[in-house]
Amino acid sequence: MIEQKGILFILSGPSGVGKGTVRKALFEKDTSLQYSISMTTRDKRPGEVEGVDYFYRTKEEFEEMINKGQLLEYAKYVNNYYGTPRQYVEETLEQGKDVFLEIEVQGALQVRENFPEGVFIFLCPPSLDELKNRIINRGTETEQSVMNRLRAAKDEIELMDAYDYVVVNDYIDNAVDKIQAIVASEHCKRERV
Ligand code: 5GP
Repeated sequence: MIEQKGILFILSGPSGVGKGTVRKALFEKDTSLQYSISMTTRDKRPGEVEGVDYFYRTKEEFEEMINKGQLLEYAKYVNNYYGTPRQYVEETLEQGKDVFLEIEVQGALQVRENFPEGVFIFLCPPSLDELKNRIINRGTETEQSVMNRLRAAKDEIELMDAYDYVVVNDYIDNAVDKIQAIVASEHCKRERV
C-alpha cells in the first residue's frame, strides 16, 4: 500500500441537528478517526471538560490565535467564537491519519477554501419543526438563544448544496452508519497499491 496523507472529514449542519451526538456515537464505533477538539469562548456547560469537549479560552486569547494564524477556520456563532486549531489537523493528516471536524456552517465554508480535498458532510434535520424540538429539549439554551439558533439554522440549511454528502439525522444509528459508509467509500476512492 502506498503511504498517503490522512483524509479530512468535515461534519457540519445547523446547531441542534445532533452533530455532537452523532459524532460521539461515531467515535464509539470508529477508532480510526482522530477528532479535532475545537476552541471556544463560550461558557462550559455542566458536565463538559476542558480539553475533551473544547479548549475554553477568553476572547482575548482567541483573538490572539486568530492574529497569529493558528486557526484553520473560525466563526462567531451566537456571540461566541469557535475555531479549529490548525497545527493538530495538519500534523495528524501528515501522519497519514484521518481527521474529523465537527463545526458549524460558516467555518465549514472556510475549510472548503483551504482544504478543497476535504470531504464535506452536511447533517440535516428531518424538518425545521423537529430541529426546534431538539434545541428546546436539550434544555441548555435560553428562549432567546433558541430563537437565535433557529434563525441561524434556516440560513445554514440553504448552504447544503456546497457539500459532498447530505446525511439526514432521523435516527442516530442510521446517521452513524451512513457516515461510516462515506469514510469507507472515500478510502476506496484513494486506494492504490
Ligand atoms: P455548541 O455551543 O452547541 O457546543 O456549538 C455551537 C456550534 O458551534 C455547533 O454548530 C458546533 O458544531 C459549532 N462548532 C464547534 N466547534 C467549532 C469550530 O471549531 N469551528 C466552528 N466554525 N464551529 C464549531
